[in-house]
Amino acid sequence: MSITPLVMGNWKMNGRAEALQHFLEDVQLTTKVDTALCPPSLYLASAFKAGLAFGAQDVSAETDGARTGELSAAMLKDVGCAYALVGHSERREYHAETNELVAEKASAAVAQGLVPVFCVGETLAQREAGEVEQVIAEQLAPLLALPDVIGKVVVAYEPVWAIGTGKTASSEDAQQVHAYIRTQFAAVDAKIAAALRILYGGSVKPDNAAELCSMPDINGALVGGASLDAASFNEIIQAAAATVAA
Ligand code: PEP
Repeated sequence: MSITPLVMGNWKMNGRAEALQHFLEDVQLTTKVDTALCPPSLYLASAFKAGLAFGAQDVSAETDGARTGELSAAMLKDVGCAYALVGHSERREYHAETNELVAEKASAAVAQGLVPVFCVGETLAQREAGEVEQVIAEQLAPLLALPDVIGKVVVAYEPVWAIGTGKTASSEDAQQVHAYIRTQFAAVDAKIAAALRILYGGSVKPDNAAELCSMPDINGALVGGASLDAASFNEIIQAAAATVAA
């Protein structure tokens, strides 16, 4: 089965309205690749570009109510969001988000018609201890227990040691983990596993995107730093498009 790649930018807590406007003017889309941008959430309501989808960098696990500072999936849907990142390693680290909470966020997103981009990945210490598969399995376990959710998610493998560091997993190492993620889904539902989009994230740049995206189980990229520059993001989109048969 051929899976349309998804290239998604994550601006994190960077950028201003004017920078976003320039980015939207300069970004070049192609029908071969799905593309999305996660700017800081307060810019979502005013962001529009035909053919480009938008995502939030986080979503509350709760529905509307007493959760000061949080945004519900219904609100994000209301302003035209299509995606929501859940479980980004910075949320896990700085906001103590647990695997269970991340799965609840994915569930809340799906309930409102958003596609959760479910982030997983090991730290350098965990990789050096040979614990990659164990860590990924633990991060996925509460999600895989949600039969109504697993067919509606995108997974992003983002080794923590590669995020914002300039270090990228080799395409072979990334492929190995992506294949493992797919087998974890296949153990629950083979059809869902075959159609699952698994993005790679961690210092994706124009010069490494083509090789990463050419791997059989890498179905696109989650791009942090390089997505702040439309020209770099365009090159990554083109690299992903080049892997799609004409
Ligand atoms: C990210 O934050 O999701 C990310 C992959 O960042 P970077 O591309 O800057 O490593």
